[in-house]
Amino acid sequence: MDVLEHASLAFPQSLPEFQRLFPDDAACAAYLEKSRWEGNFVCPHCQTGGEPFRFDNRPGVMRCRKCRRNTGLLVGTVMERSHTPLSVWFWAAYLVTSQTPGISAVQFQRQLRLSRYETAFQILHKLRAGMVRPDQDRIGGHPGTHIEVDEAWIGGRTRGEGRGVHHKTLVAAAVEVRYRQPGTAQDKRKDGRYAGRVRLAIAADRSADSLCGFVESAVTPGSLIVTDDWSGYASLRARGYDHHAIAQCGDPEVSEEFLPISHLVFSNLKTWLNGTHHGVSAKHLQAYLNEFTFRFNRRFYPFNAFRSLLGIAGGATAPTYAELYSDEWQHTKCSGYGH
Ligand SMILES: [Zn+2]
Repeated sequence: MDVLEHASLAFPQSLPEFQRLFPDDAACAAYLEKSRWEGNFVCPHCQTGGEPFRFDNRPGVMRCRKCRRNTGLLVGTVMERSHTPLSVWFWAAYLVTSQTPGISAVQFQRQLRLSRYETAFQILHKLRAGMVRPDQDRIGGHPGTHIEVDEAWIGGRTRGEGRGVHHKTLVAAAVEVRYRQPGTAQDKRKDGRYAGRVRLAIAADRSADSLCGFVESAVTPGSLIVTDDWSGYASLRARGYDHHAIAQCGDPEVSEEFLPISHLVFSNLKTWLNGTHHGVSAKHLQAYLNEFTFRFNRRFYPFNAFRSLLGIAGGATAPTYAELYSDEWQHTKCSGYGH
């Protein structure tokens, strides 16, 4: 199996299979070059086509035969200026997209035997920065389907501080609800319903401005939206949406029955944050929401997710390590919400 020969390649199902596809840095470089130029290199300096000079010890560099200028394969990608070998980046993208819970920086450092935790942390965070498409479109807009919108408190610790909400962050979710074809295997409790695309964003509070503002950034106007009967959603109809509010959603069983898909999404999100990452600080939460959204929306197409990480990640502006720990870096938010 040659990864360069197959545009619609099945995603590697095992670590040995991945290792065969990408055995070394040269194979990774060839794959990147193929995805950028389709095998027809064109010099970005003088627009001349044709096979460039190559250097055995610098697999990411091509030199134009006409103008003699170098083109770096990694320029404009998250891997630019990185001293980490390409194969490590590829492993990271593979592990992030193939493992259902993703991978933590500690696990990644151990498995790749990286000497520094910071290297593992930085690679994973740079890949996460590429997990939101810059042109991210709004979900919904399909006749005959609806969107569940709900909010939940995420993260934080309450131990030793009594009942109630402490150090938690409010997160709003919008989820497309789809129906399986009749005759296919169905989960009876969900009546054949399953989740389509999802959008997640931190909400400042439960006011109409915050919650309806999120909906406007995440969902196509005219879509049918199902929420509980919280007053924060009351103006959705006035804002151009078809709105159905479920009464008595103070009762958890009622909301579970009528908003089952968003409950499922929040449940998966909490399990993932607590299980894989042992909780996440409010400062980095939006980045983790972006990762969850990215992987959730591509869960049926993992190789697309892998390619997107290496390709789309190349189009995104990645944060430097210093920026990640300062207040300067703003994680990309859902459709510009909150700007
Ligand atoms: Zn040239």
